[in-house]
Amino acid sequence: MDFLDSLLNNIDEAVIITDPTGRILLFNEPALIQNNMLEATKPLKEGEYLINVSNPKRRKVISGIIKELNTKKQNEKSFVEYRNRQGATVYLDHNFVPVLNTENELSHIYLFVRDITPQKVYEKKLTTQATNMHTLIEQANAVIISVDTLGYITDWNTHSSVITGFQKDDVFARKISEILIIDHIDMKQGMDGIREIMIRTKNGEPKSLLLSQTPNKTGNGDVIGYTFVGQDVTELTGYRKSLEKKIAERTQQAQEALANERKAVEAKGRFVSMTSHELRTPLSTIQFATNYIRRNHAKISDDDLKGRLETIDRQVSNMTQLLEDVLAYSRAESGASTLQPGPIALKDFLNNSVEEVGHHNGNSHLVIKDFRHLPDVFKQDEKLLRNIIINLLNNAIKYSPGKDSVEMVVRKVHNDLIITVRDQGIGIEHNDQTKIFDPFVRSDQVSHIQGTGLGLSIVKKSLDLMKGSITVDSQPGFGSAFTVIIPEYQ
Ligand code: ADP
Repeated sequence: MDFLDSLLNNIDEAVIITDPTGRILLFNEPALIQNNMLEATKPLKEGEYLINVSNPKRRKVISGIIKELNTKKQNEKSFVEYRNRQGATVYLDHNFVPVLNTENELSHIYLFVRDITPQKVYEKKLTTQATNMHTLIEQANAVIISVDTLGYITDWNTHSSVITGFQKDDVFARKISEILIIDHIDMKQGMDGIREIMIRTKNGEPKSLLLSQTPNKTGNGDVIGYTFVGQDVTELTGYRKSLEKKIAERTQQAQEALANERKAVEAKGRFVSMTSHELRTPLSTIQFATNYIRRNHAKISDDDLKGRLETIDRQVSNMTQLLEDVLAYSRAESGASTLQPGPIALKDFLNNSVEEVGHHNGNSHLVIKDFRHLPDVFKQDEKLLRNIIINLLNNAIKYSPGKDSVEMVVRKVHNDLIITVRDQGIGIEHNDQTKIFDPFVRSDQVSHIQGTGLGLSIVKKSLDLMKGSITVDSQPGFGSAFTVIIPEYQ
């Protein structure tokens, strides 16, 4: 019995043994300590009834349990919350075990009492934390959504409903990619850091969320899903996009302004070098001719003198043309030229223009004209039309050296006058065909032929004023055809 006493006294659990009526036969030291510690209990004593040493509030329950043990002869458990003498709460787990004799009658009752206060306190703490966490998630001013590894939604807070319009019941056990997210998220890989994701709300409206993703792991580190936390940044994104658009527009405007500025500076440079070159050549030719005449005026023959004077004439006319071109160009450039439409006696006007060009070029080329089916009168700005025809014909002749003719076809189709000037001259490289309408631009092949690079830009400006257009069709080595379309002034 000493051995049993020592065993009973050395276990942590309180043990009380009673007879079937609940009279105490034996108890161990932990039982005594535990009972003394509790409020409103009497000290344990052998021979005393269990209900008498218990807290008065528990007596009814204990007598009920003892009755049950006598009838049912099965374990009875009960969990009790007491106050100790210091007023703190103590949690005890009571386990009543019936001990039966060989006749299957109740011979004893074992009562094991375990103090589970630390576990209970821990459990309560966890429950409180979980409740707090749940409240926090529910009421957070952020979208919080959890999914499993296949992307099925498992958690959905109130703010998610506010932002998306989907209620919890709409989304549970549905795939996040099917119901909400437009952008693709690989659930196996997850996302890197924070990402802006496009979503679709219940009424189909697109919104952007700034989402971060955290893996949900089991105790041993296996990923069982993800939690997304996000903010609705639709407004911000819209604002940012409009800013980006504005910046892009401004940048483009600035670039265009810069390119125009650069073009103007280049044009100025080309203008200076062109005029100095174009003026120096005729001036030195004139100077040479006048010197010759001065030195030889006594012995010079009439023919020789006539030839020299013609040279001077030609050079003066070249310079006059150049100055006219420069003036016409700068007038057009400054916006000073305006449209001055009037009736033009078309055939006479065309024939005169052709004659003028022939004279200017010493009739080096025959101009093959096709002016059939033209009306008597065409209403447009005569000066501008003259600019166009003279420049195109002059170019056709100038850039077809060694050929003896160029062609000019004029037609009236509906409201438009269509003029084509064709030559079989040197032609224009494909790359140059769009550039030649810019001022002072001359192709590389023509450096040996006199020119200012202004003619076609004057043509272009004149056409702009008349709301006309020009196209070029040219093959290097085979010739060029320029076609202009000019609508009649209404
Ligand atoms: P310019 O004839 O004084 O050089 P233009 O503005 O009239 O100036 O012409 C620009 C450039 O276009 C010319 O320098 C030449 O390279 C090219 N071009 C124009 N007309 C023709 C043409 N009929 N054949 C070949 N090249 C031409």
